Amino acid sequence: MSIISWELETDNRIVSVAGDWTSFASENGAPELAPASVVGQSLWTFVHGSEIRSMYTQMFERARATREPIRFRYRCDAPNYRRNMRMSIEPAGDGRLYLQSEMLGEEPRPWIGALDREARRSDTLLDICSVCRRVHVPHSRWLEPEDAAEHHDALLGEDAPMLVERLCDDCVQIHGGVRYLVTDFTGGTADGPVPLVVFLHGGGHDRFLLRLQAPPRLGGLMTDRPFLLLSPVDPASHKWQDADLDGILEQVVSRYPVDTSRIHLTGVSAGATEIWNWAKRAERSFASLVPIAGYLTDVGGLPRTRVCAVHGRRDKVVPLEAVSDIYGKIPQLGDDSRVIVYDDGEHDVWSRAYRDPDIWSWMLR
Ligand SMILES: [Zn+2]
Repeated sequence: MSIISWELETDNRIVSVAGDWTSFASENGAPELAPASVVGQSLWTFVHGSEIRSMYTQMFERARATREPIRFRYRCDAPNYRRNMRMSIEPAGDGRLYLQSEMLGEEPRPWIGALDREARRSDTLLDICSVCRRVHVPHSRWLEPEDAAEHHDALLGEDAPMLVERLCDDCVQIHGGVRYLVTDFTGGTADGPVPLVVFLHGGGHDRFLLRLQAPPRLGGLMTDRPFLLLSPVDPASHKWQDADLDGILEQVVSRYPVDTSRIHLTGVSAGATEIWNWAKRAERSFASLVPIAGYLTDVGGLPRTRVCAVHGRRDKVVPLEAVSDIYGKIPQLGDDSRVIVYDDGEHDVWSRAYRDPDIWSWMLR
């Protein structure tokens, strides 16, 4: 069984590597991972995917703060093998961390062409979980690639989809879970600060990404404008706290290239109510608000912010009549503020709204 390990400095630079490192690098067709070229570099140079990176960032912080080790299983698959792995994150006490990746076993499986680094790629995007290597199929389910092939037969053969590194709904919750996800929609094209869209999920969605057609899972359907998406996660209490949201936002702004004059808030149901109230109380001002199917209270106290509210006329959870007075005042906020009512829409109008490119263009204009 092969074991490889890394020692990380407080700033997550790699201080040393050990273990069966050289054979790992050559077996994986990645001679650039040889120890001499890895030491001294930031770990983030080698972590591909904004969501897995935000997960590791939060795990490292927790390990350093609590001095408790974190261990979890993950997969590092080849096209015809499942490889079961275990990651250990051990805090040293001086701020350094020891990471150890151990292979627990391999099992053969049918050839999955999409997992072949050399495969020819089509323009189709497909989300794959960076931890468990399942792929995202319709109705927000995550399946092993061979089982997902019935939805995406291109997984097996020629013209494989482009795999986009994400975290699935289960892996978001491993080891106490993450407080937020950062999803990169810049396509690697941005060379300066980019807008940040903060998305708050609704109450009662303990598996928030599974049940919602949430922006982190809409992929390239929305807009070609580059932005980062921040999705705070509130799995326990379903009650957002301003202080938590402020803390998460400030952390992300300090770590990512965010244009702080273009921070937009959107949320659904209870998340819409929260962005409305948060915008009134926050010290920071926001570039726009897109509350969807939320119960909103008076526009008084709302600082200079453009608003696009979205609602379904048949909403039984938050009836339109309950917010129609407020909605009547939104156009008076000016700067193209507006209300969109879907006549046949019920409570879940967000699946439709988040697929509407006009709403994203309005927000990120
Ligand atoms: Zn997963």
